[in-house]
Amino acid sequence: MMEKADLFRRLPSVDELLKTTDIAPLTQEHGRLGVTEAIRAELEAVRARLADGSLDGARFDAVLALLSEAVSARAAKMDAGSLRRVINASGVVIHTNLGRVPLIRDAVERIGECASGYSNLEMDLEKGERGCRDDHARHLLSRLFARQGVGEAAAIVVNNNAAAVFLALSALAKGGEVIVSRGELVEIGGSFRIPDIMAQSGACLREVGTTNRTRIGDYEAAITENTRLLLRVHRSNFEITGFTERPDLAELVALGRRRGIPVMEDLGSGALVNMADFGVPGEPGLCDSLRAGVALVTCSGDKLLGGPQAGLICGAPDLVGRSRAHPLFRALRVDKMCYAALEATLSAYLREQYERIPLLRILRLPAAGIERRCTALAEAARRFSPEVLATRTMIGGGAAPGKSLPSFALGLASVRDGARDLARRLRQQSVPILSRIEDDRVLLDLRTVDDADDRYLAETLAGMEA
Ligand SMILES: *Cc1c(COP(=O)(O)O)cnc(C)c1O
Repeated sequence: MMEKADLFRRLPSVDELLKTTDIAPLTQEHGRLGVTEAIRAELEAVRARLADGSLDGARFDAVLALLSEAVSARAAKMDAGSLRRVINASGVVIHTNLGRVPLIRDAVERIGECASGYSNLEMDLEKGERGCRDDHARHLLSRLFARQGVGEAAAIVVNNNAAAVFLALSALAKGGEVIVSRGELVEIGGSFRIPDIMAQSGACLREVGTTNRTRIGDYEAAITENTRLLLRVHRSNFEITGFTERPDLAELVALGRRRGIPVMEDLGSGALVNMADFGVPGEPGLCDSLRAGVALVTCSGDKLLGGPQAGLICGAPDLVGRSRAHPLFRALRVDKMCYAALEATLSAYLREQYERIPLLRILRLPAAGIERRCTALAEAARRFSPEVLATRTMIGGGAAPGKSLPSFALGLASVRDGARDLARRLRQQSVPILSRIEDDRVLLDLRTVDDADDRYLAETLAGMEA
């Protein structure tokens, strides 16, 4: 007991530590308050260990000697924030938990240019007067639309597709009814449920048909004088197979025209090119819907479009205009960084430089090249009984349900604590590595890993215990 009390007394004070030659210079980088907080936290941790007996006299001096290093590491960690780069080797391309998709490099440059100083976000440089932020991106989108045979279509940008759906329903259907098939009452990623968004918007959901079959007649029979929209929702994250039926978009549009009710579509992904050319067949494109006569289409900016988090509302100028004029637009609008990134992405589409857009490049990577990279990496991972395995990369992210691309992964076995533990240790690296587990092996699918990171992967695996 006596000894323990001695050790407590021998702990230096915060002020003493702040003056030591190792710790004093840290205030330059982390600030005096930051270093003080880090010292307090370290001393607290040592006291706790002394109190519970996990630190005793034998190792006390060693711990004291390392105190300044511990303070330095803690100070760095405490003011670093928590958002960081990770390596996605999980085998899911559009991974919502990992920030969905990497941005095109031009986007990062444009963000740097436009955000590190002032920008013309809401300034008409011609007239020298206040302009509209929604002028940005609009011209690029309308050129892309025109190229794909879409007539006049307006477009605005909001925070994400959930916001786009919410705004459009609020602006166009509040107090009225919206007809939706029971087969499309989807939930996406937990908190986005069509019936809930509908309720929040003040529109009344009118469900028609059944889970597996809805006919055009079901929509028609449900139309009343209160009907404001016919809503079509893309089944982004599930498929209904077997005895199924739903009307073509064209049929729905024809019905809407006949009865004077606009068709709105929550498209989910919003591809701007024919995704079949990128190995993802059967995924509807934004322009397909607009050409089919859908009056209002909403989609995400960061799914198959490959841009920043955003929601696009596109279509008939009067309906887009009503959404723009709704007070909620102000709450859901995007900032200069989003416009900068979206414009950079759309510019690449206009220039047909698809290989510059990371998402499209990832989708097009030939499996043979991925296999070669896995084989090279296996060399560095010898300790983990590596195997190069043919696998499939999921498109993921509430886009293209069940669709996948052929790929290769490096399978690793851990003799220490099994696959879960190895996956955890990979996540704890200086750049965390996200893998997936299959048959008690850790799989690293390299399709979604930038090849510039292969070296880091090799060095990390070579330095880890099996
Ligand atoms: C992903 C998705 C949403 C939500 O889009 P966010 O951009 O994540 O807000 C809404 N509807 C559909 C059909 C989707 O696929």
